[in-house]
Amino acid sequence: MMNFDFTDEQELLRKTVRSFVDREIMPYIKEWDEKQHFETSILSRLADLGLMGVCIPEQYGGSGMDYNSLAIVCEELERGDTAFRTAVSVHTGLNSMTILQWGNEEQKQKYLIPQSKGEKVGAFGLTEPNAGSDVAAMQTTATDAGDHYILNGSKTWISLCDVADYFLVFAYTDKSKKHHGISAFIVERSWEGFSSKAIKGKLGIRAGNTGEILFDNVKVPKQNLLGSEGEGFKIAMSALDNGRFTVAAGACGTIMASLEASLKYCHERSTFGKEIGRHQLVQQMIAKMEAGLIQSRLLVYRAGCLKNQGKRNTRETSLAKWQACDYAFEAANDAVQIHGAYGFSNEYPVERYLRNAKAPVIYEGTREIHTVMQAEYALGYRADKPLSNMLPAWPFESVSEEIMK
Ligand SMILES: Cc1cc2nc3c(=O)[nH]c(=O)nc-3n(C[C@H](O)[C@H](O)[C@H](O)COP(=O)(O)OP(=O)(O)OC[C@H]3O[C@@H](n4cnc5c(N)ncnc54)[C@H](O)[C@@H]3O)c2cc1C
Repeated sequence: MMNFDFTDEQELLRKTVRSFVDREIMPYIKEWDEKQHFETSILSRLADLGLMGVCIPEQYGGSGMDYNSLAIVCEELERGDTAFRTAVSVHTGLNSMTILQWGNEEQKQKYLIPQSKGEKVGAFGLTEPNAGSDVAAMQTTATDAGDHYILNGSKTWISLCDVADYFLVFAYTDKSKKHHGISAFIVERSWEGFSSKAIKGKLGIRAGNTGEILFDNVKVPKQNLLGSEGEGFKIAMSALDNGRFTVAAGACGTIMASLEASLKYCHERSTFGKEIGRHQLVQQMIAKMEAGLIQSRLLVYRAGCLKNQGKRNTRETSLAKWQACDYAFEAANDAVQIHGAYGFSNEYPVERYLRNAKAPVIYEGTREIHTVMQAEYALGYRADKPLSNMLPAWPFESVSEEIMK
């Protein structure tokens, strides 16, 4: 069965997020971007609306909506700015959904519930100074010390580094086992030996908080191991299936914003005695944005439908992320072009869209990594095996028995 309709609940959700963005983000974002300021109060207001755990079951403090509702939230948030969508991506997509998928009941009670309610903020620490695409090159270690591990190392380019309370951190428990020697941990900011430092001078997402997190002999209780020892690589990759989904959805928001600004400008600006929208080469850029938006949305919501069915969706999510982010970058670039010289100044928002659109082409798998993945799937060099833990299918009715197993 194929159904391209949104439910009434999803339509209402879109309206709610859109009016929130228009009211709470749009009037201030230019200033926040200029000042490289992350406005943390936006997260509490998103929490008030139930949007920090929109697709987490109600029994774990969330709103219990489906996975495509998370896509709607991300799309609409990024129409305002990439910074706040990125925050939801790491908090919900990379962190909370991973605890939902891999956490034990105790971890869900302690960490997932407050995160879903937005009382605590979660983030995701995988990348290191010498380990980005090549995850196994990481150097952070977690050494077994009886009832706890000792964590040493650092992570970089971590979104919400100064804001989050809880971090999913990946470290080697046994380097000799390579990928199979990486483990995942829930780490609290308040623990001794933890510190963070923001990166300033970014090209885009300047209204976001990104930087380093450092671990100097941090004591991590054994209860904070997520999954089993050695499952960290698998957990990280499955987390990316959810993070990438949110990035792809957000990219649709950038295309929407680029299109909106361009349509307005096309009607306002005239050259050679007619609106610029009447020039065919300008129309070509508009048509590409329109096509990019619809194609990206179809890919995103297809991946969301697979998540709703509880099916593995690594291949489909990778394709959505790759294509939507490329379309978004092109759309923002064309939006600047349509605005001519005015697009080159921050008098109009399109220059921010272009600067922001670059990071999603890099993070959560670069364009090149996704290109290679898609080729490998097509060639039969890569195939997805079933995971021991899957995200619960939606509707969530059966989740409690399933998760309690
Ligand atoms: C704004 C922002 C926020 C981020 N937030 C987070 C976060 O919250 N948590 C987190 O863990 N990380 C985060 N990251 C890090 C991000 O995920 C990494 O930057 C990304 O995985 C790429 O790694 P790298 O930068 O080390 O590039 P590298 O891996 O060093 O790649 C450099 C270049 O080589 C290419 N390349 C590498 N390997 C191959 C290959 N096999 N085939 C073809 N080409 C290849 C890449 O495509 C790229 O063009 C963030 C990054 C940014 C910019």
